[in-house]
Amino acid sequence: MSEFFKPKTVKECIDLLDQYGSKAMIVNGGTDAVEKINTGKAQPEAVILMTEMKELKKITVKDGAVHVGGAVTYLQMLKNAEIKKNQGMMIAVGAIGSPPVRVMATPAGNVGTAAPSADCTTMLMGSDAKIHVVSKKEGERVIPIDKFFVKTYVNVLKPEDLITEVEFPAMQPGMGSGYVRLTRRKVQDIGKVLVSATIEVKRGRCTKAVIGLGALNATAVRAYSVEEALVGLSRKEAQEFCRSGLPKEAGLRPSRYTHYKEITTPVALERAVMMAWDQAEGKVK
Ligand SMILES: Cc1cc2nc3c(=O)[nH]c(=O)nc-3n(C[C@H](O)[C@H](O)[C@H](O)COP(=O)(O)OP(=O)(O)OC[C@H]3O[C@@H](n4cnc5c(N)ncnc54)[C@H](O)[C@@H]3O)c2cc1C
Repeated sequence: MSEFFKPKTVKECIDLLDQYGSKAMIVNGGTDAVEKINTGKAQPEAVILMTEMKELKKITVKDGAVHVGGAVTYLQMLKNAEIKKNQGMMIAVGAIGSPPVRVMATPAGNVGTAAPSADCTTMLMGSDAKIHVVSKKEGERVIPIDKFFVKTYVNVLKPEDLITEVEFPAMQPGMGSGYVRLTRRKVQDIGKVLVSATIEVKRGRCTKAVIGLGALNATAVRAYSVEEALVGLSRKEAQEFCRSGLPKEAGLRPSRYTHYKEITTPVALERAVMMAWDQAEGKVK
């Protein structure tokens, strides 16, 4: 039998996590966690619900960065004025599951599950996000998202860690973001190819690019080779480069989708980068 807790503060929550360690499980929106409990894949002695954690239900902007609290839902994000400026994030978050899922589910839970095909995670990868974590023993840590995942469904979190927020740069003039998600069905399907892009454009040339890939490797990854290649290019040159082939970070594993992914990933990359480019040049409101 599990015991249920509803901590009201971060301190209360990390005290519980410290007390129960690997026997505790945080249930945030519960859209991944409850399935694990129902099927017996997880059998926590202590279920820690985030429903009363008001201090983690806020979205704030500080020093040019957006801070999304560890219990903020996708619905909250989609309604937030600052998030609305981030075209790629709006597409990624708006594509997750269905409205009933987005009412409950959270970005903290998305990175917590560490699925390779996670949408918000892939957009966060292409946003150079940072994950803020706190525990009683180690205090506060900030982990760059490209150092957060170990392998499929495994991240660097320890059982006593609480994600307090996810942080990514706020959109500025000259900056744009894009997200492309290829699926077999239009809705309620796991992405087969996911590409996120955040770029900066000055006088018609790319000055910075952050690219995330999802569903291609064991975890979402950064495509550093693409990022480096894009800097200095014009829109047309960038488009040609994206089309030219599979990024070397797309470590495709043999599956019945390998051929499909080989062909479509460059197209998805081109579309995500062009979408971001258009926003950077003010063509998208
Ligand atoms: C019908 C359906 C459709 C879905 N469609 C999609 C989709 O299209 N794209 C997609 O990416 N995902 C999808 N998902 C998966 C799921 O909704 C997401 O991964 C979601 O972001 C999980 O968030 P949550 O708050 O529900 O996490 P939970 O289920 O509450 O938690 C998930 C994991 O993260 C841990 N965790 C949660 N919060 C914290 C925290 N603050 N600190 C430390 N650990 C924490 C939990 O302990 C657990 O291990 C779908 C799920 C369902 C049921």
